[in-house]
Amino acid sequence: MDGLFINLMEALVESKLDEIIDTLDCCKCERCRRDIIAYALNHLPSKYVTSESGMLFAKLEFFSLQHEANVMTQLLRAVEIVSRSPRHEENMKKSERERITF
Ligand SMILES: [Zn+2]
Repeated sequence: MDGLFINLMEALVESKLDEIIDTLDCCKCERCRRDIIAYALNHLPSKYVTSESGMLFAKLEFFSLQHEANVMTQLLRAVEIVSRSPRHEENMKKSERERITF
């Protein structure tokens, strides 16, 4: 694992979304889930740590306490935006069309 970087913000956003997704009134398909994460990450600062440094979990926990409110705000905004124009439908229609055509 030498030389790898981990974005703590990414780990935090993913775990928060998994935590709250069942309470949200939004599509839970993989496509939408990834769009939500991507949107949130684009509006949050990244926080890289090296993977070989120990205490990663403790770092994540500390980081989570500092940024939880911010992450929640961005996640909820992301859910709203993705729900308004989910990109899965377009894909589904397209693959249906392809199936019919070919
Ligand atoms: Zn979806």
